[in-house]
Amino acid sequence: MMSQSLSTIENKSIAVRYAVLRERIAAARRRIERDNREAGEVRLIAVSKTHSVERVREAIAAGAFDFGENRVQEAAAKFEIIGRDTSHDDVSNNVRWHLIGHLQANKARRAVNVFDVIHSIDSVELVKRLERLCIEDGRAELPVLVQVDLGGEATKTGIGVADLPPLIEACAQCERIKLVGLMTLPPYLENVEDVRLYFRRLRELRDEWRARGAFAPLSDYANGELSMGMSHDFEVAIEEGATMVRVGTQLFGAREQV
Ligand SMILES: *Cc1c(COP(=O)(O)O)cnc(C)c1O
Repeated sequence: MMSQSLSTIENKSIAVRYAVLRERIAAARRRIERDNREAGEVRLIAVSKTHSVERVREAIAAGAFDFGENRVQEAAAKFEIIGRDTSHDDVSNNVRWHLIGHLQANKARRAVNVFDVIHSIDSVELVKRLERLCIEDGRAELPVLVQVDLGGEATKTGIGVADLPPLIEACAQCERIKLVGLMTLPPYLENVEDVRLYFRRLRELRDEWRARGAFAPLSDYANGELSMGMSHDFEVAIEEGATMVRVGTQLFGAREQV
């Protein structure tokens, strides 16, 4: 099913695919409202890893402004050319760069220069290092999400639920690092309904931590963002409360294996 839906869209332009994604997101939000639940805003993060500057520009022309990258160096190269594209009248249409992959300590300084948001916070040491770098580089605030490992041994990325309290406390101790939400990368399961439980679990965790006031009140962010859902399962993620979906393949087409 997946390969069929991809091949039918493979030869479409990025503009068409972007419009299709927007419509699918809107339809998922309508399903929530039909259930008499409140559908929050959903930010579409265009995952541009492995794709060229030209493709990113096409996506910008189609209306995208949030881009996700998983490698600091690759993102920095694109950032040097595209920057934040501040040519729009409305600053909310500036390009924003999201780090969605693991951040190594020796890349942290560059990451602080390039990224608007970091979704992949997974250790107390990283939080402390980023705070120190923000102070050194004069960056007033850095919004971050903690990446939670919900027990899929297949993925093993992020921090276990049991280790969350000290990490969230470390964020709370910071002046520059602003915890705005939680992120997860569930195992790839062919049947998207099997992924629903992971998304639901992340939402419950977010609700618990929101009740404890864990999330920083930043104007551009909801009180407890949920970064979850990819090409294969973003609609289920939205049904479970995702506020940021990270979509690559459905927008840019298949990636070369790297
Ligand atoms: C690559 C990547 C995505 C996008 O995956 P697609 O299946 O291409 O949509 C989302 N999140 C993370 C963390 C990724 O590394």
